[in-house]
Amino acid sequence: MTTKPGRRSGLGTRRGAEAATPLAALAGEPHRRYNPLLDEWVLVSAERTRRPWQGRQEPPASGPVQAYDPTCYLCPGNRRAGGEANPDYPSTFVFTNDFAALRPDSQPFALEDGLLRAEVEPGTCRVLCFSRRHDLTLAAMTEEDVRAVVDLWADQTAELGASYQWVQVFENRGEMMGASNPHPHGQIWAGTALPHDAGREDRTQLAHRVDRGSSLLLDYVGQEVGGPRVVDENEDWLAVVPFWAAWPYETLLIAREPPRRQSLARILIRLLGAYDALFGLSFPYSMGWHQAPFRGQAEEHWQLHAHFFPPLLSANVRKFMVGYELLAETQRDLTAEQAADRLRAALARRVPSEAAR
Ligand SMILES: [Zn+2]
Ligand SMILES: [Zn+2]
Repeated sequence: MTTKPGRRSGLGTRRGAEAATPLAALAGEPHRRYNPLLDEWVLVSAERTRRPWQGRQEPPASGPVQAYDPTCYLCPGNRRAGGEANPDYPSTFVFTNDFAALRPDSQPFALEDGLLRAEVEPGTCRVLCFSRRHDLTLAAMTEEDVRAVVDLWADQTAELGASYQWVQVFENRGEMMGASNPHPHGQIWAGTALPHDAGREDRTQLAHRVDRGSSLLLDYVGQEVGGPRVVDENEDWLAVVPFWAAWPYETLLIAREPPRRQSLARILIRLLGAYDALFGLSFPYSMGWHQAPFRGQAEEHWQLHAHFFPPLLSANVRKFMVGYELLAETQRDLTAEQAADRLRAALARRVPSEAAR
């Protein structure tokens, strides 16, 4: 399948073309943007970042300095809280979470009593160590090492997809995102149900396929290529601040066809490097993969993609999803175009030779 040109109606589609479109007029105005993946709206109030901030200031995020930490429960050879010892693994290592949120042996059971509904959710939770080195991050690892992580994500997904409908690969990085340990690691939660956001993206992508005979996200790639929201791209992948981004520097990494692993390792290092260069600190984020559910059927409407949700608005101020976000809808403080501009500039600072494309 090739990337089809996107729809050319509505807001601008090419770099430079937007000056003549309604988007330019919206830049200084509070406005709402539509998220076609989640079928929801986000409020954009770009001028709001000028307000004086007297709230919480975050301490600078700094990474660990030592390659091995004798007290770390993820380092090779160390004993975990559950009592088991890690092997002296050379690169990556997977184990079932000692304090898993899902368990495979949960017995099927459903409750339905008027408005009260519940069902048992059998599943499993695994921890994936990305490296034996305690002090590395994906951005600081070699392409070969990141490729090993990509292979691990793919192998684990295939294995768990044989038993579970939804396989959620993700990484929480940094204390701010609740990472309990600085050792580079991610998680996989696999479950029987299709979770809330996965179900929404399933419905929106299927509806687009039925209506137009094309992929929602590949159409979106066609509409964004060469445009003001693209942060980075290569032959197989596009990294873009989505038009409807909720978090300040949120990005969407979309596989063109077919998704290839080596080029994924390359663009991951660049994208995460751009994040680290943005404020000159080890950037916290939650990221994760959305891939087709395992239902024993063709899932042509699904397009592989990853979401990156970093919380920082500036070096020491984080975005809180509170008040209006919890009660009405998501709101953001700078436009997706401004965020992409800054991320591209950060990428150029990080890799000046490569970024001159
Ligand atoms: Zn460690
Ligand atoms: Zn998604």
